[in-house]
Amino acid sequence: MSQQSAPHSLDILNPATAEVIATVPAATAADVDAAVARAATAQRVWAAAAPADRARLLRRFAAVVDEHIEELALSEVREAGHTIGNARWEAGNVRDLLDYCAGGVERLLGRQIPVAGGIDFTVLEPLGVIGVIAPWNFPMPIAAWGAAPALAAGNAVLLKPAETTPLTALRLAELALEAGLPAGLFQVLPGEGPVAGAALVDHPGVAKIVFTGSTRTGKHIMTRCADRVKRLTLELGGKSPNVVFADADLEAAAAAAPMSFLDNAGQDCCARTRILVERTVHDRFLDLLAPAVAAVVVGDPSDEKTQMGPLISAVQRERVSGFVDVLPDGVRTILGSAPDGPGFWYPPTVLAGVSPDAPVAVDEVFGPVAVVLPFDDEADAVRLANATEYGLAGSIWTRDVARALRVGQGLRAGNLSVNSHSSVRYATPFGGYKQSGLGRELGPDALAAFTETKNVFISTEA
Ligand code: NAD
Repeated sequence: MSQQSAPHSLDILNPATAEVIATVPAATAADVDAAVARAATAQRVWAAAAPADRARLLRRFAAVVDEHIEELALSEVREAGHTIGNARWEAGNVRDLLDYCAGGVERLLGRQIPVAGGIDFTVLEPLGVIGVIAPWNFPMPIAAWGAAPALAAGNAVLLKPAETTPLTALRLAELALEAGLPAGLFQVLPGEGPVAGAALVDHPGVAKIVFTGSTRTGKHIMTRCADRVKRLTLELGGKSPNVVFADADLEAAAAAAPMSFLDNAGQDCCARTRILVERTVHDRFLDLLAPAVAAVVVGDPSDEKTQMGPLISAVQRERVSGFVDVLPDGVRTILGSAPDGPGFWYPPTVLAGVSPDAPVAVDEVFGPVAVVLPFDDEADAVRLANATEYGLAGSIWTRDVARALRVGQGLRAGNLSVNSHSSVRYATPFGGYKQSGLGRELGPDALAAFTETKNVFISTEA
């Protein structure tokens, strides 16, 4: 199915220590082929089961995840360098989403449509086998964002985790079996993107791909899916603005800004890495921001007090420093602290006085780096906020509700927050405008994205 299929294994490193913590066999194209066949068989049985039984099994899966929250969280700390507090939230997010989607199984409703000469209705049918391709930055929740609604809508799922972070995903598949989900229905295939990932994308037995990752890989996958008109959801990169008006509670805005781009060491597609500040309060805001950045606790992610851990890899650290090291003199740099020694550390970094067109100001850095840019008025703020190819998220800080709504209408982004940086809830839709993605995940329509609509007309005139 794919161009390459060399047998291989993946060394999994703890990014806080650079030590190898596991070695995992990498799936080949032949493994993907066999997994698709098993999944197709399991899916037919699953789709034919009573909806109430499917809902019950998904609720049991949620309960088993709940019993393993601490274990899953520690696994995410070890393989992805997430802080323990965040990792617990992520494991809870998987549990809550499974519960939420279980509630959707018996509410996946078609419609009855008024027409002449008969009865017309729609049925939502499962697509079949779904390929979920996940990135390394939030391995556990992103796996579930694809898998939970897909399973709830009657599909089977083949999950290809990122090369660096397959461990929590493998554990989730074991927990699914423990909960009683049929064998083959939810399988995890660790492997390399161009081998196992490509085999899933190109496989005729896979009806839909849910891809989360870089915009570059997403575009490539989109062209491959075009060959078969394969269904596709894309969750791609971001470069999100944090727009601070002079009338905002500046202390609150400055206190909240650091973790809006330092959470997960900035390896967050929603990171508010473009801090746009009304010119009249620009310098005052920087003075408030500097101590808040310096106070962020960076270090051992398993320590309860830690707020920011390491980057995922040496390659990622090089990529991040590549954006910063080329900056000209005269850029004001606010630095936080980072540990020395092994592990892939990078200090919290805020840059002021950067050109709005500089790569660090418009491209996704995916590290703990933000730029602060001044703006003059609302129109200027909207223009600057929209001046990237991305459109995933954004924040607006103001005490004026009408202004928040006006500016919100102008922003071309899928997830906005006002006087907050919150973007992700299992019950609300999530996804990007422009080159940040295609389609939406989570929220009330999550299950419908894994169905085909069939329309049926029954004549009453015969
Ligand atoms: P990536 O594109 O390098 O890899 C993502 C996944 O795609 C991995 O599993 C990888 O193995 C696989 N892959 C790579 N090449 C492939 C190919 N040719 N065919 C099939 N699969 C292939 O991304 P990454 O570096 O792992 O993740 C970081 C990116 O993810 C960032 O750009 C970030 O913004 C984005 N992201 C977006 C969201 C969102 O919801 N919008 C969420 C998290 C991360």
